[in-house]
Amino acid sequence: MHSGDADGDTAKTLVLVGLILDLVGEVILFGLGVLFLAVPILGTLVLGLAVIGFLWIALVYFYSYDRIAGGDYEGARTPTLVFAILSLVTLALVPGILFLIAYIKLGDALKGEAAYYAWGQPAPLVFPAPLSGGSRYCTYCGRPSPASSAFCAGCGARMTGAP
Ligand SMILES: [Zn+2]
Repeated sequence: MHSGDADGDTAKTLVLVGLILDLVGEVILFGLGVLFLAVPILGTLVLGLAVIGFLWIALVYFYSYDRIAGGDYEGARTPTLVFAILSLVTLALVPGILFLIAYIKLGDALKGEAAYYAWGQPAPLVFPAPLSGGSRYCTYCGRPSPASSAFCAGCGARMTGAP
């Protein structure tokens, strides 16, 4: 299993749990709003908050969960951080912490995609240095191999592209 996908799956699950908690909160808020309609101003205010909450859930779903599910970890990362901060600021602490961990996991997933050892351990990030004669970098794990090898010395993937 690709280590980046494992982190991506963890992030996806965290965002999903956060969304479910938010949804439960909004349903309770909506119910309270209906009850409070006995006092129209209060009921309308609470229902208004519930409607904003449902819009919020739609935003988190489309900009975070849906992107993670589609493998767009890079695209989901910044929205997920924004959702984490907004949740924490509005005292939705548990979803906020879940989104924050998801954001960190998305970072791990991106690192895992850039570099990982064949046995599934996270590799230190290897940033391609300017190519100096005789070696080239694996497009799969990012580690250098002799230009003459057909397979990566690090992960065993077939070397592609020109040396
Ligand atoms: Zn490799």
